[in-house]
Amino acid sequence: MPPKAESLPPLRDLLKAHELFAKKSFGQHFLLDERVLELIASYAGDVENHHVFEVGPGPGGLTRALLARGASVTAIEKDPRFLPLIEPLKETYPSKFTLLQEDALKTNLLELAPSPRKIVANLPYNVATPLLVNWLHEINAHGQNAYTQLTLMFQKEVAERIAAEPDTGAYGRLAVLSNWLCDVVWHQDLPAGAFTPPPKVTSAVISLIPLAKPRFEANLKSFERVVATAFNQRRKMLRVSLKALGLDATALLEHAHIDGTKRAEVLDVEAFSRLANSYDALTKSATKSSSQL
Ligand code: SAH
Repeated sequence: MPPKAESLPPLRDLLKAHELFAKKSFGQHFLLDERVLELIASYAGDVENHHVFEVGPGPGGLTRALLARGASVTAIEKDPRFLPLIEPLKETYPSKFTLLQEDALKTNLLELAPSPRKIVANLPYNVATPLLVNWLHEINAHGQNAYTQLTLMFQKEVAERIAAEPDTGAYGRLAVLSNWLCDVVWHQDLPAGAFTPPPKVTSAVISLIPLAKPRFEANLKSFERVVATAFNQRRKMLRVSLKALGLDATALLEHAHIDGTKRAEVLDVEAFSRLANSYDALTKSATKSSSQL
């Protein structure tokens, strides 16, 4: 008989017994309170028939909560010091738990398990944004076949940038890309004191629920290019900031039916997709006419 989950040692004792200290360079801030961990796992919704990826299990509190909810979990942890703390979970949940010592930035999750997949993680904040952008690219390519839900802890300021509405200070590239591909659900803030050791900032848990296909049709590369260029100089009028695209910005904005005196901040996701499509249309016709010369 495998040992029951209740027989696992308390997380705090485990950390102490293994004399592990949080490393700043790995963005290590641990959650040890079971009620908080269960709440976060509950935000992931039904996980029983899903394969759940967890980035950065650390001492494994969230991992335990996910396994207890019946998920099959693959955890990816970069810091080898934690492996002996979480390896015993393999015995408690045979065939349900896989542990990989890898850098999640270099791991192709889609190759590791079939859909339906979810990602649930208290992310290392130093790499949270590039990780999310990688997953959003996969969602752009495969929609809900990539992931059906991402339930993630970020520092609150980053969560706000993901969930932001147009015409707010937090609205920018992250909000536009996230909203183009997903519905974003805000769950809750978590004060610094909920973590051991406490980070300097407040945190927040949000979910991104991928759409079956992007909200508006556009090519990812062009979409990202126009969004990045527009927000690079977010205080400038679009007819000025978009010159950096290297084409006639006024013609581009006219083609997309966007007032060139507006700033990037006020454009919604639909307007950005129009801009990306016009960018494609104009760059294609430019290549055509130059090849005719
Ligand atoms: N989930 C745990 C720990 C969160 S702290 C908890 O809630 O208690 C972030 C974790 O991510 C740490 O365990 C850290 O070692 C790990 N980590 C940092 N960078 C990583 C990377 N690039 N790939 C995988 N894990 C990483």
